[in-house]
Amino acid sequence: MLIDSHVNLHGEKYEEDLPEVLQRAREAGVGAMLAISDRLSSQAAIQAISNKHDNIWHSVGVHPHHAKDYSDLTAAQLIELAEQSGAIGIGECGLDLYYEYSELKDQQPVFQAHIEAAQTTQLPLIIHTRRADEYTQAMLTEASAAQPLPLLMHCYTSGKVLAEKALELGAYVSFSGILTFKKADDVREIAQMVPLERLLVETDCPYLAPVPHRGRRCEPAHVVHVAEKLAEIKGVSPEEMGQVTTDNFFRLFTRADRAQVAAI
Ligand SMILES: [Zn+2]
Repeated sequence: MLIDSHVNLHGEKYEEDLPEVLQRAREAGVGAMLAISDRLSSQAAIQAISNKHDNIWHSVGVHPHHAKDYSDLTAAQLIELAEQSGAIGIGECGLDLYYEYSELKDQQPVFQAHIEAAQTTQLPLIIHTRRADEYTQAMLTEASAAQPLPLLMHCYTSGKVLAEKALELGAYVSFSGILTFKKADDVREIAQMVPLERLLVETDCPYLAPVPHRGRRCEPAHVVHVAEKLAEIKGVSPEEMGQVTTDNFFRLFTRADRAQVAAI
Protein backbone atom coordinates (compact mmCIF):
# COMPACT_ATOMS: atom_id res chain seq x y z
CA MET A 1 0.00 0.00 0.00
CA LEU A 2 1.19 3.48 -0.86
CA ILE A 3 0.25 7.02 0.04
CA ASP A 4 0.71 9.74 -2.55
CA SER A 5 1.72 12.63 -0.32
CA HIS A 6 1.35 15.39 -2.92
CA VAL A 7 -1.43 15.56 -5.51
CA ASN A 8 -2.97 18.52 -7.32
CA LEU A 9 -6.41 17.19 -8.20
CA HIS A 10 -8.50 20.36 -8.33
CA GLY A 11 -7.30 21.69 -11.69
CA GLU A 12 -8.84 21.35 -15.11
CA LYS A 13 -6.55 18.41 -15.91
CA TYR A 14 -8.87 16.07 -14.02
CA GLU A 15 -12.12 17.89 -14.68
CA GLU A 16 -13.41 15.18 -16.98
CA ASP A 17 -12.32 11.95 -15.35
CA LEU A 18 -11.40 12.37 -11.68
CA PRO A 19 -13.46 9.32 -10.57
CA GLU A 20 -11.58 7.11 -13.04
CA VAL A 21 -8.25 8.59 -11.94
CA LEU A 22 -9.05 7.78 -8.31
CA GLN A 23 -10.22 4.30 -9.23
CA ARG A 24 -6.94 3.58 -11.04
CA ALA A 25 -5.03 4.83 -8.00
CA ARG A 26 -6.87 2.37 -5.79
CA GLU A 27 -6.27 -0.49 -8.23
CA ALA A 28 -2.58 0.39 -8.21
CA GLY A 29 -2.48 0.13 -4.40
CA VAL A 30 -2.64 3.81 -3.49
CA GLY A 31 -4.69 3.82 -0.31
CA ALA A 32 -4.70 7.54 0.44
CA MET A 33 -3.45 10.89 -0.81
CA LEU A 34 -2.88 14.45 0.26
CA ALA A 35 -4.44 17.13 -1.98
CA ILE A 36 -2.25 20.19 -1.94
CA SER A 37 -3.37 23.79 -1.87
CA ASP A 38 -1.63 26.18 -4.25
CA ARG A 39 -3.56 29.33 -3.29
CA LEU A 40 -6.47 30.38 -1.15
CA SER A 41 -8.74 30.85 -4.17
CA SER A 42 -8.47 27.09 -4.83
CA GLN A 43 -9.15 26.20 -1.20
CA ALA A 44 -12.89 25.55 -1.56
CA ALA A 45 -12.37 23.23 -4.55
CA ILE A 46 -9.63 21.32 -2.75
CA GLN A 47 -11.64 20.99 0.41
CA ALA A 48 -14.62 19.72 -1.57
CA ILE A 49 -12.50 16.90 -3.04
CA SER A 50 -11.03 16.10 0.34
CA ASN A 51 -14.39 16.06 2.10
CA LYS A 52 -15.95 13.88 -0.57
CA HIS A 53 -13.35 11.13 -0.15
CA ASP A 54 -12.39 9.62 3.19
CA ASN A 55 -8.92 8.73 1.97
CA ILE A 56 -8.04 12.18 0.61
CA TRP A 57 -6.85 14.82 3.04
CA HIS A 58 -5.85 18.35 2.12
CA SER A 59 -3.47 21.15 3.00
CA VAL A 60 -3.85 24.88 3.38
CA GLY A 61 -1.43 27.29 1.75
CA VAL A 62 -0.07 29.48 -1.02
CA HIS A 63 2.56 28.28 -3.48
CA PRO A 64 5.54 30.65 -3.80
CA HIS A 65 4.57 31.26 -7.44
CA HIS A 66 1.43 33.01 -6.21
CA ALA A 67 3.03 34.89 -3.32
CA LYS A 68 2.72 38.24 -5.08
CA ASP A 69 -1.08 37.90 -5.02
CA TYR A 70 -1.13 37.26 -1.26
CA SER A 71 1.09 39.98 0.12
CA ASP A 72 -1.18 40.50 3.13
CA LEU A 73 -1.52 36.83 4.03
CA THR A 74 -1.37 36.22 7.78
CA ALA A 75 -0.68 33.17 9.89
CA ALA A 76 -4.10 33.69 11.49
CA GLN A 77 -5.84 33.21 8.12
CA LEU A 78 -4.00 29.95 7.54
CA ILE A 79 -4.68 28.75 11.08
CA GLU A 80 -8.39 29.37 10.63
CA LEU A 81 -8.47 27.47 7.32
CA ALA A 82 -6.53 24.64 8.93
CA GLU A 83 -9.44 24.08 11.31
CA GLN A 84 -11.52 22.67 8.45
CA SER A 85 -12.16 18.96 8.58
CA GLY A 86 -9.69 17.07 6.43
CA ALA A 87 -6.94 19.71 6.70
CA ILE A 88 -3.75 18.06 7.92
CA GLY A 89 -0.86 20.27 6.76
CA ILE A 90 0.30 23.81 5.99
CA GLY A 91 1.52 24.55 2.43
CA GLU A 92 2.74 24.07 -0.09
CA CYS A 93 4.80 27.09 0.59
CA GLY A 94 8.38 28.15 0.30
CA LEU A 95 10.74 29.85 -2.11
CA ASP A 96 11.18 29.38 -5.85
CA LEU A 97 13.90 31.35 -7.58
CA TYR A 98 13.89 29.13 -10.66
CA TYR A 99 10.69 30.45 -12.17
CA GLU A 100 10.58 33.55 -10.00
CA TYR A 101 6.93 34.22 -10.84
CA SER A 102 6.97 36.22 -7.61
CA GLU A 103 9.98 38.17 -6.40
CA LEU A 104 11.95 36.89 -3.44
CA LYS A 105 10.90 39.89 -1.35
CA ASP A 106 7.25 38.92 -1.95
CA GLN A 107 7.86 35.22 -1.35
CA GLN A 108 9.61 35.54 2.00
CA PRO A 109 6.82 37.11 4.09
CA VAL A 110 4.27 34.67 2.67
CA PHE A 111 6.54 31.75 3.55
CA GLN A 112 7.01 33.24 7.01
CA ALA A 113 3.23 33.37 7.57
CA HIS A 114 3.09 29.64 6.79
CA ILE A 115 5.98 28.94 9.15
CA GLU A 116 4.17 30.71 11.97
CA ALA A 117 0.92 28.88 11.22
CA ALA A 118 2.77 25.56 11.35
CA GLN A 119 4.43 26.51 14.61
CA THR A 120 1.11 27.40 16.19
CA THR A 121 -0.86 24.42 14.90
CA GLN A 122 2.09 21.98 14.89
CA LEU A 123 0.76 20.76 11.54
CA PRO A 124 3.55 19.81 9.12
CA LEU A 125 4.91 22.56 6.89
CA ILE A 126 4.99 21.31 3.28
CA ILE A 127 7.93 23.05 1.68
CA HIS A 128 8.56 23.77 -1.97
CA THR A 129 12.07 25.05 -2.56
CA ARG A 130 13.76 25.46 -5.88
CA ARG A 131 17.08 27.17 -6.53
CA ALA A 132 16.69 28.91 -3.18
CA ASP A 133 18.69 26.60 -0.90
CA GLU A 134 20.41 29.25 1.18
CA TYR A 135 17.34 31.41 1.70
CA THR A 136 15.21 28.40 2.59
CA GLN A 137 17.83 27.06 4.97
CA ALA A 138 18.13 30.43 6.68
CA MET A 139 14.40 30.77 7.28
CA LEU A 140 13.93 27.18 8.48
CA THR A 141 16.92 27.32 10.78
CA GLU A 142 15.80 30.56 12.36
CA ALA A 143 12.24 29.33 12.77
CA SER A 144 13.24 25.97 14.25
CA ALA A 145 15.55 27.67 16.75
CA ALA A 146 12.64 29.75 18.01
CA GLN A 147 10.11 26.90 18.05
CA PRO A 148 10.55 23.46 16.50
CA LEU A 149 8.04 22.58 13.81
CA PRO A 150 7.32 19.48 11.71
CA LEU A 151 8.81 19.79 8.23
CA LEU A 152 8.35 18.08 4.89
CA MET A 153 10.65 18.92 1.99
CA HIS A 154 8.44 18.06 -0.98
CA CYS A 155 9.55 16.93 -4.46
CA TYR A 156 13.12 17.34 -3.36
CA THR A 157 15.53 18.47 -6.10
CA SER A 158 17.69 20.89 -4.12
CA GLY A 159 21.24 20.48 -2.87
CA LYS A 160 22.94 18.22 -0.40
CA VAL A 161 23.70 20.89 2.17
CA LEU A 162 20.05 21.94 2.47
CA ALA A 163 19.01 18.28 2.68
CA GLU A 164 21.47 17.64 5.50
CA LYS A 165 20.36 20.74 7.37
CA ALA A 166 16.69 19.88 6.92
CA LEU A 167 17.29 16.33 8.22
CA GLU A 168 19.07 17.81 11.21
CA LEU A 169 15.96 19.88 11.89
CA GLY A 170 13.92 16.67 11.83
CA ALA A 171 12.50 17.08 8.33
CA TYR A 172 10.99 14.35 6.21
CA VAL A 173 11.91 14.35 2.53
CA SER A 174 9.56 13.40 -0.28
CA PHE A 175 10.60 12.32 -3.77
CA SER A 176 8.60 12.45 -6.98
CA GLY A 177 8.81 10.94 -10.46
CA ILE A 178 11.97 12.95 -11.06
CA LEU A 179 13.76 10.05 -9.33
CA THR A 180 13.14 7.97 -12.44
CA PHE A 181 14.45 10.56 -14.90
CA LYS A 182 17.62 9.60 -16.69
CA LYS A 183 19.55 12.74 -15.81
CA ALA A 184 18.49 12.93 -12.16
CA ASP A 185 21.60 11.34 -10.64
CA ASP A 186 21.91 14.23 -8.18
CA VAL A 187 18.37 13.64 -6.89
CA ARG A 188 19.02 9.90 -6.57
CA GLU A 189 22.16 10.69 -4.62
CA ILE A 190 20.15 12.69 -2.09
CA ALA A 191 17.56 9.92 -1.84
CA GLN A 192 20.37 7.51 -1.06
CA MET A 193 21.43 9.76 1.79
CA VAL A 194 18.01 10.24 3.44
CA PRO A 195 17.34 7.64 6.17
CA LEU A 196 14.49 5.24 5.41
CA GLU A 197 12.46 6.51 8.35
CA ARG A 198 12.35 10.03 6.85
CA LEU A 199 11.23 9.18 3.32
CA LEU A 200 7.89 9.91 1.67
CA VAL A 201 6.73 9.40 -1.90
CA GLU A 202 4.58 11.59 -4.11
CA THR A 203 3.62 12.21 -7.71
CA ASP A 204 3.02 15.99 -7.64
CA CYS A 205 0.49 15.05 -10.32
CA PRO A 206 -0.54 16.19 -12.92
CA TYR A 207 3.11 17.17 -13.30
CA LEU A 208 6.29 15.11 -13.46
CA ALA A 209 4.98 11.74 -14.66
CA PRO A 210 7.61 9.11 -13.86
CA VAL A 211 9.15 6.80 -16.43
CA PRO A 212 7.46 4.94 -18.21
CA HIS A 213 4.73 7.59 -18.37
CA ARG A 214 7.06 10.54 -18.76
CA GLY A 215 5.68 13.39 -20.85
CA ARG A 216 2.05 12.40 -20.29
CA ARG A 217 -0.39 13.56 -17.64
CA CYS A 218 0.67 12.16 -14.30
CA GLU A 219 -1.82 10.65 -11.86
CA PRO A 220 -1.65 9.18 -8.34
CA ALA A 221 -1.46 5.58 -9.63
CA HIS A 222 1.99 6.44 -10.98
CA VAL A 223 3.41 6.81 -7.48
CA VAL A 224 4.06 3.07 -7.74
CA HIS A 225 6.97 3.81 -10.09
CA VAL A 226 8.38 6.39 -7.70
CA ALA A 227 8.26 3.91 -4.82
CA GLU A 228 9.85 1.18 -6.95
CA LYS A 229 12.75 3.43 -7.89
CA LEU A 230 13.19 4.57 -4.32
CA ALA A 231 13.17 0.94 -3.14
CA GLU A 232 15.86 0.10 -5.68
CA ILE A 233 17.99 3.04 -4.55
CA LYS A 234 17.64 2.09 -0.88
CA GLY A 235 18.04 -1.63 -1.47
CA VAL A 236 14.71 -2.71 -0.02
CA SER A 237 11.68 -4.40 -1.58
CA PRO A 238 8.89 -2.25 -3.05
CA GLU A 239 6.56 -3.72 -0.40
CA GLU A 240 8.85 -2.61 2.39
CA MET A 241 9.16 0.84 0.85
CA GLY A 242 5.36 1.06 0.75
CA GLN A 243 5.14 0.08 4.40
CA VAL A 244 7.89 2.42 5.55
CA THR A 245 6.68 5.49 3.64
CA THR A 246 3.12 4.88 4.83
CA ASP A 247 4.27 4.64 8.45
CA ASN A 248 6.34 7.78 7.97
CA PHE A 249 3.35 9.62 6.53
CA PHE A 250 1.23 8.91 9.60
CA ARG A 251 4.08 9.72 12.00
CA LEU A 252 4.43 13.12 10.33
CA PHE A 253 0.79 13.95 9.59
CA THR A 254 -0.55 13.25 13.04
CA ARG A 255 -4.01 14.56 12.20
CA ALA A 256 -4.51 11.99 9.42
CA ASP A 257 -6.52 9.02 10.62
CA ARG A 258 -5.15 5.69 9.46
CA ALA A 259 -8.64 4.20 9.63
CA GLN A 260 -9.59 6.34 6.62
CA VAL A 261 -7.21 4.60 4.23
CA ALA A 262 -9.06 2.80 1.45
CA ALA A 263 -9.11 -0.98 1.62
CA ILE A 264 -6.81 -2.13 -1.14
ZN1 LIG B 1 5.91 22.17 -5.32
